[in-house]
Amino acid sequence: MANGEHDLVVVGGGVAGLTAGLTSARAGRRTRVLTGPALGGHLVSIERIDGYPGFPDGIPGYDLGPIIQEQAVGAGAQFAAGEATALHASDGRWRVAASDGDLHARAVVIATGTTLKHLGIPGEEQFRGKGVSHCASCDAPLLRGRVVGVVGGGDSALQEALTLAQHAARVIVLHRGTAFSAQSAYVQQVQQNPKIEVRFSTIVEEAIGNSGLKSVRTRTVSDGKTGELELSGLFVYVGLAPATTLLDGVLALDASGRVPVNDEMRSRVPGLFAAGTVRSGSAGRAASAAGDGATAALSADRYLRDGTWQ
Ligand SMILES: Cc1cc2nc3c(=O)[nH]c(=O)nc-3n(C[C@H](O)[C@H](O)[C@H](O)COP(=O)(O)OP(=O)(O)OC[C@H]3O[C@@H](n4cnc5c(N)ncnc54)[C@H](O)[C@@H]3O)c2cc1C
Repeated sequence: MANGEHDLVVVGGGVAGLTAGLTSARAGRRTRVLTGPALGGHLVSIERIDGYPGFPDGIPGYDLGPIIQEQAVGAGAQFAAGEATALHASDGRWRVAASDGDLHARAVVIATGTTLKHLGIPGEEQFRGKGVSHCASCDAPLLRGRVVGVVGGGDSALQEALTLAQHAARVIVLHRGTAFSAQSAYVQQVQQNPKIEVRFSTIVEEAIGNSGLKSVRTRTVSDGKTGELELSGLFVYVGLAPATTLLDGVLALDASGRVPVNDEMRSRVPGLFAAGTVRSGSAGRAASAAGDGATAALSADRYLRDGTWQ
Protein backbone atom coordinates (compact mmCIF):
# COMPACT_ATOMS: atom_id res chain seq x y z
CA MET A 1 0.00 0.00 0.00
CA ALA A 2 1.47 3.36 -1.00
CA ASN A 3 2.09 5.39 2.12
CA GLY A 4 -0.97 7.58 2.71
CA GLU A 5 -3.23 5.75 0.16
CA HIS A 6 -6.12 3.73 1.60
CA ASP A 7 -9.62 2.55 0.84
CA LEU A 8 -10.85 3.75 4.22
CA VAL A 9 -9.44 6.03 6.88
CA VAL A 10 -11.05 5.77 10.32
CA VAL A 11 -10.56 8.85 12.49
CA GLY A 12 -10.76 7.83 16.15
CA GLY A 13 -9.41 4.94 18.21
CA GLY A 14 -12.28 4.42 20.67
CA VAL A 15 -14.49 1.34 20.59
CA ALA A 16 -16.35 2.68 17.50
CA GLY A 17 -13.18 3.43 15.52
CA LEU A 18 -11.44 0.21 16.54
CA THR A 19 -14.45 -1.85 15.48
CA ALA A 20 -14.77 0.05 12.19
CA GLY A 21 -11.08 -0.68 11.52
CA LEU A 22 -11.50 -4.36 12.39
CA THR A 23 -14.60 -4.76 10.22
CA SER A 24 -13.16 -2.90 7.24
CA ALA A 25 -9.92 -4.89 7.32
CA ARG A 26 -11.92 -8.13 7.54
CA ALA A 27 -13.76 -7.02 4.39
CA GLY A 28 -10.38 -6.85 2.66
CA ARG A 29 -10.17 -3.05 2.55
CA ARG A 30 -6.88 -1.16 2.94
CA THR A 31 -7.67 0.46 6.28
CA ARG A 32 -5.86 2.98 8.45
CA VAL A 33 -7.08 3.91 11.93
CA LEU A 34 -5.89 7.26 13.30
CA THR A 35 -6.28 6.90 17.03
CA GLY A 36 -5.58 10.49 18.08
CA PRO A 37 -4.68 11.38 21.65
CA ALA A 38 -6.31 8.35 23.34
CA LEU A 39 -6.09 4.82 21.97
CA GLY A 40 -9.23 3.21 23.37
CA GLY A 41 -10.98 6.56 23.87
CA HIS A 42 -13.03 6.70 27.06
CA LEU A 43 -12.41 3.00 27.61
CA VAL A 44 -8.87 3.64 28.84
CA SER A 45 -10.06 5.36 31.99
CA ILE A 46 -13.00 3.11 32.93
CA GLU A 47 -12.46 0.57 35.71
CA ARG A 48 -15.34 -1.67 34.64
CA ILE A 49 -17.39 -1.58 31.43
CA ASP A 50 -20.83 -2.98 32.27
CA GLY A 51 -23.25 -4.41 29.74
CA TYR A 52 -20.74 -5.22 26.99
CA PRO A 53 -21.74 -8.55 25.40
CA GLY A 54 -19.51 -11.50 26.27
CA PHE A 55 -18.38 -10.15 29.64
CA PRO A 56 -21.12 -10.93 32.19
CA ASP A 57 -19.00 -9.61 35.08
CA GLY A 58 -17.88 -6.51 33.17
CA ILE A 59 -14.40 -5.91 31.78
CA PRO A 60 -11.87 -3.18 32.55
CA GLY A 61 -12.07 -0.65 29.71
CA TYR A 62 -8.27 -0.47 29.56
CA ASP A 63 -8.28 -4.21 28.72
CA LEU A 64 -11.12 -4.08 26.19
CA GLY A 65 -9.48 -1.44 23.93
CA PRO A 66 -6.23 -3.42 23.35
CA ILE A 67 -8.23 -6.64 22.77
CA ILE A 68 -10.17 -5.02 19.90
CA GLN A 69 -7.05 -3.31 18.54
CA GLU A 70 -5.15 -6.62 18.48
CA GLN A 71 -8.03 -8.23 16.61
CA ALA A 72 -8.05 -5.35 14.08
CA VAL A 73 -4.27 -5.57 13.55
CA GLY A 74 -4.65 -9.33 13.08
CA ALA A 75 -7.24 -8.65 10.36
CA GLY A 76 -4.80 -6.29 8.59
CA ALA A 77 -5.78 -2.81 9.79
CA GLN A 78 -2.95 -0.32 10.13
CA PHE A 79 -2.76 2.07 13.07
CA ALA A 80 -1.23 5.50 13.59
CA ALA A 81 -1.28 7.63 16.72
CA GLY A 82 -1.71 10.84 14.74
CA GLU A 83 -4.48 13.37 15.15
CA ALA A 84 -6.57 14.46 12.17
CA THR A 85 -6.64 18.24 11.82
CA ALA A 86 -8.68 18.81 8.64
CA LEU A 87 -10.70 17.02 5.96
CA HIS A 88 -10.92 17.94 2.29
CA ALA A 89 -12.87 16.26 -0.52
CA SER A 90 -12.16 16.53 -4.23
CA ASP A 91 -12.95 14.27 -7.21
CA GLY A 92 -14.48 11.58 -4.99
CA ARG A 93 -11.41 11.29 -2.76
CA TRP A 94 -10.76 12.51 0.74
CA ARG A 95 -7.56 14.01 2.07
CA VAL A 96 -7.21 13.68 5.82
CA ALA A 97 -4.62 16.14 7.09
CA ALA A 98 -3.02 14.54 10.13
CA SER A 99 -0.28 15.48 12.59
CA ASP A 100 2.04 12.86 11.07
CA GLY A 101 1.25 13.39 7.37
CA ASP A 102 -1.67 13.44 4.94
CA LEU A 103 -3.75 10.34 4.24
CA HIS A 104 -5.94 9.75 1.18
CA ALA A 105 -8.99 7.52 0.86
CA ARG A 106 -12.31 7.31 -0.97
CA ALA A 107 -14.14 6.85 2.33
CA VAL A 108 -13.69 8.20 5.86
CA VAL A 109 -15.38 7.12 9.10
CA ILE A 110 -15.51 9.83 11.75
CA ALA A 111 -15.39 8.16 15.18
CA THR A 112 -13.93 10.98 17.24
CA GLY A 113 -16.33 10.47 20.15
CA THR A 114 -16.65 13.01 22.93
CA THR A 115 -14.71 14.77 25.65
CA LEU A 116 -15.89 15.16 29.22
CA LYS A 117 -17.21 18.67 29.87
CA HIS A 118 -15.57 20.93 32.42
CA LEU A 119 -17.44 22.86 35.13
CA GLY A 120 -15.87 26.16 34.05
CA ILE A 121 -15.44 27.36 37.65
CA PRO A 122 -12.54 29.22 39.28
CA GLY A 123 -9.76 26.88 40.44
CA GLU A 124 -10.79 23.99 38.16
CA GLU A 125 -7.88 24.37 35.73
CA GLN A 126 -5.44 25.37 38.49
CA PHE A 127 -6.06 22.12 40.40
CA ARG A 128 -6.49 19.81 37.37
CA GLY A 129 -4.19 16.87 38.07
CA LYS A 130 -3.74 18.17 41.64
CA GLY A 131 -7.09 16.97 42.98
CA VAL A 132 -9.48 17.81 40.13
CA SER A 133 -9.83 14.81 37.83
CA HIS A 134 -11.86 13.13 35.07
CA CYS A 135 -10.48 9.67 35.79
CA ALA A 136 -11.64 7.81 38.89
CA SER A 137 -9.85 4.56 38.04
CA CYS A 138 -6.51 6.42 37.59
CA ASP A 139 -6.67 8.49 40.77
CA ALA A 140 -8.82 6.48 43.19
CA PRO A 141 -5.90 4.36 44.54
CA LEU A 142 -4.05 7.60 45.45
CA LEU A 143 -7.02 8.76 47.51
CA ARG A 144 -7.28 5.77 49.81
CA GLY A 145 -8.91 6.76 53.11
CA ARG A 146 -9.72 10.32 51.94
CA VAL A 147 -12.97 12.20 51.36
CA VAL A 148 -13.69 12.91 47.70
CA GLY A 149 -16.47 14.57 45.71
CA VAL A 150 -18.13 13.56 42.45
CA VAL A 151 -20.05 16.16 40.44
CA GLY A 152 -22.92 14.97 38.25
CA GLY A 153 -26.01 12.80 38.29
CA GLY A 154 -25.79 10.55 35.22
CA ASP A 155 -24.43 7.05 34.58
CA SER A 156 -20.78 8.15 34.45
CA ALA A 157 -20.98 10.10 37.73
CA LEU A 158 -22.60 7.28 39.69
CA GLN A 159 -20.47 4.55 38.13
CA GLU A 160 -17.33 6.46 39.04
CA ALA A 161 -18.64 7.23 42.55
CA LEU A 162 -18.96 3.45 43.05
CA THR A 163 -15.37 2.94 41.80
CA LEU A 164 -14.10 5.65 44.15
CA ALA A 165 -15.98 4.16 47.12
CA GLN A 166 -13.78 1.06 46.84
CA HIS A 167 -10.80 3.20 47.90
CA ALA A 168 -11.90 6.47 49.53
CA ALA A 169 -13.20 6.77 53.11
CA ARG A 170 -16.23 8.73 51.90
CA VAL A 171 -17.62 9.85 48.55
CA ILE A 172 -19.95 12.84 48.36
CA VAL A 173 -22.01 13.08 45.17
CA LEU A 174 -22.88 16.70 44.40
CA HIS A 175 -25.71 17.08 41.90
CA ARG A 176 -27.42 20.30 40.88
CA GLY A 177 -30.70 18.51 40.07
CA THR A 178 -33.22 16.97 42.44
CA ALA A 179 -33.05 13.44 40.97
CA PHE A 180 -30.51 11.31 39.14
CA SER A 181 -30.70 10.66 35.40
CA ALA A 182 -28.58 7.50 35.75
CA GLN A 183 -29.78 3.90 35.22
CA SER A 184 -31.73 2.59 38.20
CA ALA A 185 -29.13 -0.15 38.82
CA TYR A 186 -26.47 2.49 39.53
CA VAL A 187 -28.88 4.61 41.58
CA GLN A 188 -29.73 1.62 43.78
CA GLN A 189 -26.08 0.68 44.30
CA VAL A 190 -25.22 4.26 45.25
CA GLN A 191 -28.15 4.48 47.65
CA GLN A 192 -27.14 1.21 49.30
CA ASN A 193 -23.44 2.05 49.62
CA PRO A 194 -22.74 3.27 53.17
CA LYS A 195 -19.64 5.17 52.01
CA ILE A 196 -21.57 7.34 49.53
CA GLU A 197 -23.50 10.44 50.55
CA VAL A 198 -25.70 12.29 48.05
CA ARG A 199 -26.34 16.04 48.07
CA PHE A 200 -28.98 17.11 45.56
CA SER A 201 -29.65 20.73 44.51
CA THR A 202 -25.98 21.53 45.09
CA ILE A 203 -23.81 23.55 42.73
CA VAL A 204 -20.02 23.51 42.96
CA GLU A 205 -18.86 27.09 42.41
CA GLU A 206 -15.12 27.07 43.12
CA ALA A 207 -12.20 24.72 43.70
CA ILE A 208 -9.97 25.98 46.51
CA GLY A 209 -6.46 25.00 47.62
CA ASN A 210 -2.76 25.87 47.70
CA SER A 211 -0.44 23.41 45.98
CA GLY A 212 -3.37 20.95 45.66
CA LEU A 213 -7.15 20.90 46.08
CA LYS A 214 -8.30 21.38 49.69
CA SER A 215 -12.00 22.16 49.42
CA VAL A 216 -14.84 23.34 47.19
CA ARG A 217 -17.30 26.18 47.60
CA THR A 218 -20.89 25.02 47.14
CA ARG A 219 -24.27 26.74 46.80
CA THR A 220 -27.66 25.23 47.48
CA VAL A 221 -30.08 25.89 44.62
CA SER A 222 -33.23 26.30 46.75
CA ASP A 223 -32.02 28.94 49.26
CA GLY A 224 -28.77 30.21 47.69
CA LYS A 225 -26.86 29.27 50.86
CA THR A 226 -23.11 28.87 50.30
CA GLY A 227 -20.73 26.56 52.14
CA GLU A 228 -17.24 25.10 51.99
CA LEU A 229 -16.66 21.36 51.82
CA GLU A 230 -13.22 19.85 52.48
CA LEU A 231 -12.28 17.36 49.75
CA SER A 232 -9.04 15.70 48.66
CA GLY A 233 -10.37 14.98 45.17
CA LEU A 234 -13.09 16.33 42.89
CA PHE A 235 -14.24 14.14 39.98
CA VAL A 236 -16.23 15.90 37.29
CA TYR A 237 -18.84 14.03 35.19
CA VAL A 238 -21.24 16.71 33.97
CA GLY A 239 -21.81 15.68 30.38
CA LEU A 240 -20.02 15.06 27.13
CA ALA A 241 -19.08 17.40 24.28
CA PRO A 242 -18.78 15.84 20.80
CA ALA A 243 -15.28 16.17 19.28
CA THR A 244 -16.05 17.72 15.90
CA THR A 245 -13.69 20.68 15.28
CA LEU A 246 -12.28 18.59 12.45
CA LEU A 247 -15.64 18.90 10.67
CA ASP A 248 -15.84 22.71 10.67
CA GLY A 249 -16.99 23.73 7.19
CA VAL A 250 -17.34 20.08 6.07
CA LEU A 251 -20.95 19.41 7.00
CA ALA A 252 -23.77 20.74 9.20
CA LEU A 253 -24.11 19.19 12.68
CA ASP A 254 -27.36 18.60 14.60
CA ALA A 255 -28.52 20.75 17.51
CA SER A 256 -26.39 18.75 19.98
CA GLY A 257 -23.28 19.24 17.81
CA ARG A 258 -23.27 15.65 16.53
CA VAL A 259 -23.05 14.29 12.97
CA PRO A 260 -26.45 13.46 11.43
CA VAL A 261 -26.37 10.00 9.81
CA ASN A 262 -28.85 7.53 8.33
CA ASP A 263 -29.19 3.98 9.63
CA GLU A 264 -26.15 2.93 7.55
CA MET A 265 -24.04 5.57 9.34
CA ARG A 266 -23.83 7.63 6.13
CA SER A 267 -23.64 11.40 6.59
CA ARG A 268 -25.07 13.81 4.03
CA VAL A 269 -21.68 14.05 2.32
CA PRO A 270 -20.69 11.22 -0.07
CA GLY A 271 -17.91 9.03 1.31
CA LEU A 272 -18.21 10.41 4.84
CA PHE A 273 -19.55 8.14 7.61
CA ALA A 274 -19.84 8.64 11.38
CA ALA A 275 -19.94 6.08 14.18
CA GLY A 276 -20.16 6.02 17.97
CA THR A 277 -20.96 8.84 20.34
CA VAL A 278 -20.07 11.55 17.81
CA ARG A 279 -23.09 10.65 15.67
CA SER A 280 -26.65 11.85 16.09
CA GLY A 281 -28.84 9.61 18.19
CA SER A 282 -26.01 7.49 19.65
CA ALA A 283 -27.19 5.35 22.55
CA GLY A 284 -23.98 6.29 24.37
CA ARG A 285 -22.94 2.77 25.35
CA ALA A 286 -19.82 0.85 24.38
CA ALA A 287 -21.80 -1.92 22.66
CA SER A 288 -23.76 0.55 20.53
CA ALA A 289 -20.53 2.36 19.56
CA ALA A 290 -19.04 -0.98 18.46
CA GLY A 291 -22.21 -1.76 16.47
CA ASP A 292 -22.00 1.65 14.77
CA GLY A 293 -18.37 1.02 13.84
CA ALA A 294 -19.21 -2.31 12.22
CA THR A 295 -22.21 -0.82 10.38
CA ALA A 296 -20.17 2.15 9.11
CA ALA A 297 -17.36 -0.09 7.83
CA LEU A 298 -19.73 -2.44 5.96
CA SER A 299 -21.62 0.53 4.55
CA ALA A 300 -18.29 2.05 3.41
CA ASP A 301 -17.39 -1.28 1.77
CA ARG A 302 -20.67 -1.16 -0.20
CA TYR A 303 -20.00 2.46 -1.21
CA LEU A 304 -16.47 1.59 -2.37
CA ARG A 305 -17.95 -1.23 -4.47
CA ASP A 306 -20.88 0.56 -6.16
CA GLY A 307 -20.10 4.28 -5.68
CA THR A 308 -23.74 5.15 -4.98
CA TRP A 309 -24.82 7.48 -2.17
CA GLN A 310 -28.36 7.83 -0.92
C1 LIG B 1 -16.95 7.40 33.12
C2 LIG B 1 -17.62 6.62 32.02
C3 LIG B 1 -18.10 5.33 32.28
C4 LIG B 1 -18.71 4.59 31.27
N1 LIG B 1 -19.15 3.31 31.54
C5 LIG B 1 -19.72 2.58 30.57
C6 LIG B 1 -20.17 1.23 30.83
O1 LIG B 1 -20.02 0.69 31.93
N2 LIG B 1 -20.76 0.53 29.81
C7 LIG B 1 -20.92 1.07 28.56
O2 LIG B 1 -21.45 0.39 27.68
N3 LIG B 1 -20.50 2.34 28.29
C8 LIG B 1 -19.91 3.09 29.26
N4 LIG B 1 -19.50 4.38 29.00
C9 LIG B 1 -19.72 4.91 27.64
C10 LIG B 1 -18.66 4.36 26.67
O3 LIG B 1 -17.38 4.47 27.25
C11 LIG B 1 -18.74 5.16 25.36
O4 LIG B 1 -20.04 5.05 24.81
C12 LIG B 1 -17.76 4.65 24.32
O5 LIG B 1 -16.47 4.48 24.87
C13 LIG B 1 -17.73 5.64 23.15
O6 LIG B 1 -16.81 5.19 22.20
P1 LIG B 1 -16.47 6.06 20.91
O7 LIG B 1 -15.51 5.24 20.12
O8 LIG B 1 -17.72 6.52 20.25
O9 LIG B 1 -15.76 7.41 21.42
P2 LIG B 1 -14.55 7.72 22.42
O10 LIG B 1 -14.38 6.68 23.42
O11 LIG B 1 -14.81 9.14 22.87
O12 LIG B 1 -13.25 7.71 21.47
C14 LIG B 1 -12.94 8.77 20.60
C15 LIG B 1 -11.61 8.49 19.94
O13 LIG B 1 -11.39 9.49 18.94
C16 LIG B 1 -10.05 9.97 19.03
N5 LIG B 1 -10.02 11.31 18.45
C17 LIG B 1 -10.69 12.42 18.82
N6 LIG B 1 -10.40 13.46 18.00
C18 LIG B 1 -9.52 12.96 17.08
C19 LIG B 1 -8.84 13.53 15.96
N7 LIG B 1 -9.01 14.81 15.61
N8 LIG B 1 -7.99 12.75 15.25
C20 LIG B 1 -7.81 11.44 15.58
N9 LIG B 1 -8.46 10.84 16.63
C21 LIG B 1 -9.29 11.60 17.36
C22 LIG B 1 -9.72 9.87 20.52
O14 LIG B 1 -8.30 9.83 20.71
C23 LIG B 1 -10.38 8.52 20.85
O15 LIG B 1 -9.51 7.47 20.48
C24 LIG B 1 -18.87 5.14 29.98
C25 LIG B 1 -18.39 6.44 29.72
C26 LIG B 1 -17.77 7.17 30.71
C27 LIG B 1 -17.27 8.56 30.40
